[in-house]
Amino acid sequence: MKKLALHWQILIGMGAGILFALILTNFEWGSQFVTDWIKPFGTIFINALKLIAVPLILASLIKGVSDLKDISSLSKMGARTLITYLITTVVAVSIGLVIVNVFKPGKTIDEDTRTELTENYGGEVELTRQSAAKQKESGPLQALEDLVPDNIFGAASDNGNMLQVIFFAVFFGIGMILIPEKQARPVKNFFDALNEVILKMIDLIMLAAPYGVFALLAALIVEAPSPDLFMALLYYAGCVVLGLVLMIAFYALIVWVFTKKSPLFFINGISPAQLLGLSTSSSAATLPVTMERVEEHLGVDRQVSSFVLPIGATINMDGTSLYQAVAAVFIAQAFGMDLSLGVQLGIIATATLASIGSAAVPGAGMVMLVIVLGQAGIPEAGLALIFAIDRPLDMVRTSVNVTGDAAVSMLVAKSQDKLHEPHVKNWDDKYTKE
Ligand code: ASP
Repeated sequence: MKKLALHWQILIGMGAGILFALILTNFEWGSQFVTDWIKPFGTIFINALKLIAVPLILASLIKGVSDLKDISSLSKMGARTLITYLITTVVAVSIGLVIVNVFKPGKTIDEDTRTELTENYGGEVELTRQSAAKQKESGPLQALEDLVPDNIFGAASDNGNMLQVIFFAVFFGIGMILIPEKQARPVKNFFDALNEVILKMIDLIMLAAPYGVFALLAALIVEAPSPDLFMALLYYAGCVVLGLVLMIAFYALIVWVFTKKSPLFFINGISPAQLLGLSTSSSAATLPVTMERVEEHLGVDRQVSSFVLPIGATINMDGTSLYQAVAAVFIAQAFGMDLSLGVQLGIIATATLASIGSAAVPGAGMVMLVIVLGQAGIPEAGLALIFAIDRPLDMVRTSVNVTGDAAVSMLVAKSQDKLHEPHVKNWDDKYTKE
């Protein structure tokens, strides 16, 4: 039989899911059927991926850090990672701001659409506001305080708190570097083997990927809001998507310039992770696959990927920051506000911080958008204008978030001399069906 690459399998799964749901919604019982009998398989697929994320971070990060020769190489890699992440995020917000100012999508929203959207999504706005209020209440050092867990099992069981797990793993790894090699060896071997087992588990989960995305997309379609509202927001959505596509081109370019790896090589290697980001809307759920693709198909040494990617999944959200910039200015435009240059520069700072603070789960970027709006003096009620189309945009921005992490991991690996020829030469020989 003909070989079918993994990204094609996933794409076919997505397309079939959409088609299936569109056909079933024509029947009275169709939507309920999808919700009762199809959606749970999507949830199981996402759960399985999330299940792997915490043990994967623990095993691979402890292994990665403890393999470093000394603490100074860790701090060098850490500094490079954080600076590169910050730069890509600022680039993303700036691209978003330029696009939204050039195309002015907010001007297309008339009074009637605004009223209809506000009536339809008033309840959701209130809920989002409440979630954001919880984040805002915290003091200036809250983020730092949250970094250090008081209980590793507590941290591991709290899905939104990957940073605490990362902290523990790095701390543990540092401890291992500081004890004699002979004593550290058994612990190292243990985590090494654990890592292999977990990678194998990811392989197994990926066998179900085409079916998982089928279920996820089918469920999404039956829950989608009315197409009329969709159309009114198409111009705005187009601006966000244009920005996100430019970001992907930007990543391919910097990877090409700094590592001499062609855009095709990069996109080919990372595409299954991009598609999973698209289907799950969660960088955290996609992380196991991002790590596997980056190590095996893009040639990033595990020492680098195990450090750069979990941190990136948590704090580097370029797609989210770009979306927040476009959405904030779009809402201002729709309310007839003219934002000064000073306010827009402020948005660069707040959207960067808000994207760092967004959890790697569906819809998180929108909650943090409340903070960006608040800082810029844009009415929060304007959130109602973008709800109808937020989920599809969440999908695309998550895909960009994942791509950004992968690109930065290649740059950091190159700078540390840890970028090799990928060991899976034939793209999909691991998953290909004969
Ligand atoms: N869903 C995004 C992610 O997980 C975050 C967001 O923008 O809502 O990367």
